[in-house]
Amino acid sequence: MSCGSWTSKQTVAIYSAALNKLHTNNDSTSGEYEEECPTCLSEKEKGEKLGCTLNHGNPKFRRRGNVTKNKRFQAQVKIAKKHIANNYVSRKTQAWFPGEIRSIRSYLIPHNSLPHTMLWTMLLFGITQGLRIDEIITMTVEQFLFKLFAIKDTHIQNLYHTVNGKTDGGDQDLVLWDDSYCPDMSSLRMVLLWVRLSGIKSGYLFPSLEHLSDRSVLASGKHDHYCYANVLKDIKFLHYDV
Ligand SMILES: [Zn+2]
Repeated sequence: MSCGSWTSKQTVAIYSAALNKLHTNNDSTSGEYEEECPTCLSEKEKGEKLGCTLNHGNPKFRRRGNVTKNKRFQAQVKIAKKHIANNYVSRKTQAWFPGEIRSIRSYLIPHNSLPHTMLWTMLLFGITQGLRIDEIITMTVEQFLFKLFAIKDTHIQNLYHTVNGKTDGGDQDLVLWDDSYCPDMSSLRMVLLWVRLSGIKSGYLFPSLEHLSDRSVLASGKHDHYCYANVLKDIKFLHYDV
């Protein structure tokens, strides 16, 4: 029914509506759908222009009516809809509810491993700062402006970092606030913990898995950033399986 890049599950409905609209503009393509009559056609070849006995005066030399009312068309629509219901995988942006974020945290933290801790830090940091995936994975220590951190006697009130988004046209300044009322959801605390655990002092904040296991590369700051395909895979897994 459709090919090319149309992957929306609304395609069948849109296609049917478009066909229906096309048909209503013309009398011969409106109303009930009727096939051509083979007897009328063979009579026509013999010179009889008024049609067969059954359709005399109203010859059916060609198909007429609205094709979307055709039983075969409707059967195909049904098959397509069933196929979509069984096979369609949504690729739109997914929004998580706070409860889902908590479930993801409860899943990731107990693993007590660097990769799981890094993933949780990336997610929480991205969520609180409203960042795109590519902005998170390419975040560097150098984007944090130490001079502008608010460090109190007993706690750190906020960090400060820049981000250069797709439509920003230059560095934008963002403040990363602590959340003392909900410390387990404080991305500031998680980022500080992550820096401490990973030992990263420069370069990408979230390294590739290969470099994450190599302390000397991490210390040198020459590590690669976490891979885009990996983070998409992680998010899909967390969304559907956790
Ligand atoms: Zn006929």
